Amino acid sequence: EGAVLDTDDEHIVVGTAGHVDHGKSTLVGSLVTGEPDDGEGGTRSFLDVQPHEMERGLSADLSYGVYGFDDEAGPVRMDNPHRKADRASVVERADRLVSFVDTVGHEPWLRTTIRGLVGQKLDYGLLVVAADDGPTKTTREHLGILLATELPTIVAITKCDMVSDERLSEVEREIERLLRGADRTPLSVARHGVEAAIEEISEQVVPVVATSAVTMEGLPVLDELFHRLPKTEGGAAADRFQMYIDRSYNVKGVGAVASGTIRSGTVSAGDELLLGPMQDGSFRDVEVRSIEMHYHRVDEAQAGRIVGIALKNVREADVERGMVLLPRSADPEPVREFEAEVMVLNHPTRIDEGYEPVVHLETVSEAAAIYPEAGQLLPGDTGNARVRFKFRPYLVEEGQRFVFREGQSKGVGTVVDTRP
Ligand code: GDP
Repeated sequence: EGAVLDTDDEHIVVGTAGHVDHGKSTLVGSLVTGEPDDGEGGTRSFLDVQPHEMERGLSADLSYGVYGFDDEAGPVRMDNPHRKADRASVVERADRLVSFVDTVGHEPWLRTTIRGLVGQKLDYGLLVVAADDGPTKTTREHLGILLATELPTIVAITKCDMVSDERLSEVEREIERLLRGADRTPLSVARHGVEAAIEEISEQVVPVVATSAVTMEGLPVLDELFHRLPKTEGGAAADRFQMYIDRSYNVKGVGAVASGTIRSGTVSAGDELLLGPMQDGSFRDVEVRSIEMHYHRVDEAQAGRIVGIALKNVREADVERGMVLLPRSADPEPVREFEAEVMVLNHPTRIDEGYEPVVHLETVSEAAAIYPEAGQLLPGDTGNARVRFKFRPYLVEEGQRFVFREGQSKGVGTVVDTRP
């Protein structure tokens, strides 16, 4: 209790995506436990923890798996992910932490999917493709979003134990074709090695690794990648503190807790902060009672960390997803409307004036109307547009990316101007 973590330790956040049943959770389960799967989702069951089965703490289960690396001893894993103490001990022992965020729910592009990609500060994407099925329509859609949000991504072919070498080569070729079609360069880790993958991974170059959670083939390669890949947004710690709230809940005896991923800066217990915007655009004064990270109490946490922050001076009902926490000295100007550059994905929909999708920006998910400057935008088009939230203001900043969807993902955008 109350131990202070070494905040120089690194923490990378990996978002997983891929067709349901292609082996996402199983792969993450085998990575974080170091145990092979029994072919029936045995390791995955470690991750399917319902909140009521887990001892309650401030940290909501935003991330669905965590493990770490000690620079000398190698991987640091938990014996039993159901136990809060095991999670906390991984945090304590590792020089680098790797958190997995499940960006995809059971149906393609649930709200949580988008929130996962845009609202978490992800460092890398991990797209799984099962060797038996190969890439599907969902695989393509998920890849499209990972690439559109410019996230360096690794493709893991899973279930290699289930197919012949011939079938595996065929799937590798299909994936390579898919990547080339999206203007990306595939890099086969089997052929070129881990070193090359670490050096060349970027938004343009996508390493492809063949794995099996049953035989553990390829998992040491992923370990090495996750141990050594550079943190992509490490510099953000110097900026002022900012966190978009993903969830809020009430913890008995503690009160309102806001959880999310710290976007920039550092927060400490006792800090005086602003919370908002409220419906009317105002912010209110709150204070940090305590901070938890993976069930581990910390005195301080910095950019990239997934945390639960217990707040004084506010009721849980007043803390909502999409609000931000900022230092008292900030002078935030929430907006109802902003200018964006939007790109319409290849769906058979054109976007006319007043088109009303749901906009997902950071942790905000809100109905908005879009007014393209050119009057309309066709699939594949990029152009400027005004975006107007229907019901209330949010804190929006230049350079932020968002996804808009209506049933399916329709497009992505970047905020270019927040002035009226
Ligand atoms: P998700 O929906 O993508 O998270 O997929 P799951 O992780 O739930 O996996 C679906 C099923 O595939 C489970 O029954 C797993 O046991 C099985 N599975 C996952 N990975 C492998 C693998 O590498 N080999 C074999 N044989 N089965 C696997």
